[in-house]
Amino acid sequence: MKVVQTLAELFYEIPLYESVALPEDLRLKLIVLGGDDATFEGYCPECETVRPFKIKQHCDFSRDPLTRVTWQDIVSRVTQQTCILAAHCTFDESHSIRMVLDCGTLELMKIGQYPSLADIGNSEIKRFRGVLSRLDMSELHKAIGLGAHGVGVGSFTYLRRIFERIIQSRFDEFHQSEGWDPEAFRVAWMDEKIAMIRSHIPEVLYENRKIYAVLSKGIHELSEEECLAAFPWLKKSIIFILDDDLRKRDELRQRDEIRKALGDFL
Ligand SMILES: [Zn+2]
Repeated sequence: MKVVQTLAELFYEIPLYESVALPEDLRLKLIVLGGDDATFEGYCPECETVRPFKIKQHCDFSRDPLTRVTWQDIVSRVTQQTCILAAHCTFDESHSIRMVLDCGTLELMKIGQYPSLADIGNSEIKRFRGVLSRLDMSELHKAIGLGAHGVGVGSFTYLRRIFERIIQSRFDEFHQSEGWDPEAFRVAWMDEKIAMIRSHIPEVLYENRKIYAVLSKGIHELSEEECLAAFPWLKKSIIFILDDDLRKRDELRQRDEIRKALGDFL
């Protein structure tokens, strides 16, 4: 069973209806089951950027005066404690992410979330419309939708295709000026490809290149669980590269503007 290490992981990575474990020493356990306040950093779909979030409330349905009537039937049917966990954006408190959790002693299951993981994920990738092809954008949407429903192999396959195309496009763009060998690149494992094009991708990918070797395995060699476990870091890697592209594009645009302004002046 997957062990949840952080609140951000619980809000942004765990799909519905997947039983997950809480480590015994985790503050998360106190926050969800007890009465502690906490903050974490995460993507706010309304601000469309990363913000600090604060947990503002958590309660058993049966103790919540606003919901006690509506939820009585449900409460009577659940044997474990059911909790609502709401995180509020510290930029604007009306921005929130709410979850309903079925909590055991050291394990829990997310049984509801709003906005959904897919809504949050799709909002997070909107900014890449200018740097991703229509195909990549469409497959990224599909990957996020499947990942939000716990479909491991499907979501992993789409992310892998996008990642491979990004790495291939870097190779195609620079192989002549860098003198890279196309045949050596074609037969290399993904971690070796990343090492080859190191100077044209974010350094963090090179530093962690061993993890990408899994992308060279056949899909039939991977289990549903392995694919689900790879989903967060593969998605983060893609987002990291695309943010780097956006930064470079912005820098180029600013340089052009300065050059043009200087040209007008001289
Ligand atoms: Zn916000």
